[in-house]
Amino acid sequence: MAALSEFSVLRPASAADAVRLRGEHPASRFIAGGTDLVPNLRRGLVDAEVVIDLTGVGEMRELQQQGDMLRLGAGVTLATLAADATVRTQLPALAQAAAAVAGPTHRASATLGGNLCLETRCQYFNQSESWRQGNDYCMKLAGDTCRVAPKSSRCYAAFSGDVAPALLALDAEIELLGPQGIRRLPLAEFYVDDGMRWLALGADELLFAVTVPLVAGRVSGYEKLRVRGAIDFPLAGVAVALVRDGDTIGELRLACTGVSSRPEFVGGLDWLAGQPLDAAAFAVIARQIKRTIQPMETTTVSVPYRRRATPVLAKRLVGRLWDEAHRED
Ligand SMILES: Cc1cc2nc3c(=O)[nH]c(=O)nc-3n(C[C@H](O)[C@H](O)[C@H](O)COP(=O)(O)OP(=O)(O)OC[C@H]3O[C@@H](n4cnc5c(N)ncnc54)[C@H](O)[C@@H]3O)c2cc1C
Ligand code: SF4
Repeated sequence: MAALSEFSVLRPASAADAVRLRGEHPASRFIAGGTDLVPNLRRGLVDAEVVIDLTGVGEMRELQQQGDMLRLGAGVTLATLAADATVRTQLPALAQAAAAVAGPTHRASATLGGNLCLETRCQYFNQSESWRQGNDYCMKLAGDTCRVAPKSSRCYAAFSGDVAPALLALDAEIELLGPQGIRRLPLAEFYVDDGMRWLALGADELLFAVTVPLVAGRVSGYEKLRVRGAIDFPLAGVAVALVRDGDTIGELRLACTGVSSRPEFVGGLDWLAGQPLDAAAFAVIARQIKRTIQPMETTTVSVPYRRRATPVLAKRLVGRLWDEAHRED
């Protein structure tokens, strides 16, 4: 990996200062845990003259229950999310997703905000400068053609963060802080289906916090497929939130990652409410997932495998949660 290029580091003490500094330095980037940004800087995948370090912003590291909501500062680390008693018991999908990111040393510094803003990934992009130069670059950086879909005018690099699908399944909202103040939006509206412009984040905005409803009787979980079980990005990841109403489905929410340029909430499952979880319901779940996801040759693992494996992952997870919900009755 190449040496880091030179940049200045600014250390704001408040989120408002961080936003102000971002406005004053257009060629800047925020850094939180740095576990994605630093490797990308070293590979020349992104550049920055100024890096705005968010780790000194205490108000972004708060994790508080506010009535029937849990409010998570964007600076909360993944290790904290994975270990927190409220998250583990009331939002297990979130704890499981956080625990599934990278390795323990990464999770000790990696943050919720950095995970939700993760750069999209592709086997033709996440390479050294010399590799990319030798392969004539690609459209996402310095080239003019997409190696995955040469006739395409868009990039299909995959969003591969583990935490976003858990928060989509749990119906989270986010708070973005900009010069005009806070802007709230459902997490699903934060993402765009484009590997080069995948975030609806203004140039001078900061992801400030995430709020997650705590719903009585809802069970949830997260599962992922990866090449190396100990440490790896998801080839496919599925999060499910389920309310079981006796022998029928009360509510089923499902989201995927690693299989499109944005984390995908799988729609069209509402009408399963009131239905039993039988073969017909599993067929609907599989059909809706296949309609929603769009895996491309962005990893070395084949597209047909990821297309087929994602509904299988979902079926196993829904089945496990169905049994868990029964035990909690
Ligand atoms: C070996 C290895 C394995 C990995 N495996 C996984 C994995 O399995 N799953 C996974 O999801 N990730 C994985 N990652 C990626 C990364 O470690 C995590 O996604 C991590 O959560 C990123 O968080 P961070 O705080 O370190 O982000 P940073 O690197 O600090 O930032 C990431 C991006 O988010 C932006 N950013 C950070 N905070 C904010 C904010 N509050 N507002 C606006 N923008 C912000 C930064 O400018 C940057 O563009 C892996 C990384 C490595 C090196
Ligand atoms: S999907 Fe295409 S444009 Fe995007 S990173 Fe991969 S090769 Fe490049």
